[in-house]
Amino acid sequence: MKEDYKKYADEVVQLRHYFHQHPELSNQEIETTEKIKEILTGWGIKIIPTELETGLVAEIKGESKGATIALRADIDALPVEERTDLAFKSESEGIMHACGHDLHITSLLGAIRYFNGHKNLIKGTVRFLFQPAEETGSGANQVLAKDVLHGVQAILGFHNNPNFKTNEIALQKGPMMAGCYKFEIKISGRGSHGAKPEKGSDPIVTLGEMISSLQTIVSRNINPQDAVVVSVTRVSAGSVWNIIPGEAVLGGTVRLFKLENAELVKQRLTKIAENIAAAHDQEVSVDWEERTLPIANDAALTNAVIDNLDFKVVQPILSMAGEDFATYQKQVPGVFAFVGSNGAPDAADWHDPKFIGLDETLPTGIGYFVEGALGILNYLNT
Ligand SMILES: [Zn+2]
Ligand SMILES: [Zn+2]
Repeated sequence: MKEDYKKYADEVVQLRHYFHQHPELSNQEIETTEKIKEILTGWGIKIIPTELETGLVAEIKGESKGATIALRADIDALPVEERTDLAFKSESEGIMHACGHDLHITSLLGAIRYFNGHKNLIKGTVRFLFQPAEETGSGANQVLAKDVLHGVQAILGFHNNPNFKTNEIALQKGPMMAGCYKFEIKISGRGSHGAKPEKGSDPIVTLGEMISSLQTIVSRNINPQDAVVVSVTRVSAGSVWNIIPGEAVLGGTVRLFKLENAELVKQRLTKIAENIAAAHDQEVSVDWEERTLPIANDAALTNAVIDNLDFKVVQPILSMAGEDFATYQKQVPGVFAFVGSNGAPDAADWHDPKFIGLDETLPTGIGYFVEGALGILNYLNT
């Protein structure tokens, strides 16, 4: 480590515990936003006025002119009842920072503290984005809709990752986290007495066939070297034991890294649904929704970040989970990494009631933001 980021981590670790104790759900991060505002104001950091209802943007200008970049941390928590033994366990019933966004908030605060004392190192402007509502997949869209990133030439972010040790950063150009899609298939048959199926047109049998056939998309249509998931996660049909219902619904999610596979899965899914329904003289409607795009790291910026990192950089394990940081990458080139937050072989994963992100994540998170930002500014300014 070039710099002793531990010093900055020590300054924010109590804040990390505070945020962990007071988690708030997506788009309800009112006290979290207030607290961040209070801390930044106390440090004399400029807060940029925005129309965001929760979340905020701050800025530090360097002593010399240059590019403008943004560092992003998401701030929301999840509807999960915490089941850890941490001394700073959640105090809000049924809400937990089970994705470790409290570590993201405080790593960014630590980086702000660093930059505030090192304006001489900044060639240009660094904007700090505390983003709301990552967990619903809508926060980044809200930020872009309010034009908060106007003039930003590159964006840098990370997610803590309990699969890696706290001194490790996992990063590569190209894919990191999957694109996330939601689908729903509605089958319209004709209801009848359970004892007289010949009088109706049973949508449940059709639904059963569809579930099995959807499994062939990954096994028979996708290139075996590409990672794709098709999961049916919800079925609903009927309400009583002796009536065949008129309608059946199945829904689920698709995860993938290559955009061309999104088109292929959507086409196959629609064709399978339509043709199985047609074989049974039934109607079907298919709803397909893009939630988050795959994270795709800009090659040149990723190299600029890696070259300037004085940490152990390891090969990432691609995550099938989605992250709305990808939404920014549609408009602004960006780099997203995993910062190790636990590393124990049995560490609970994101969204688990027993998820534990260690305090030791903070020096690496702060260092990633600081060195990554300086690497990017250096690259953009030359
Ligand atoms: Zn999450
Ligand atoms: Zn998360």
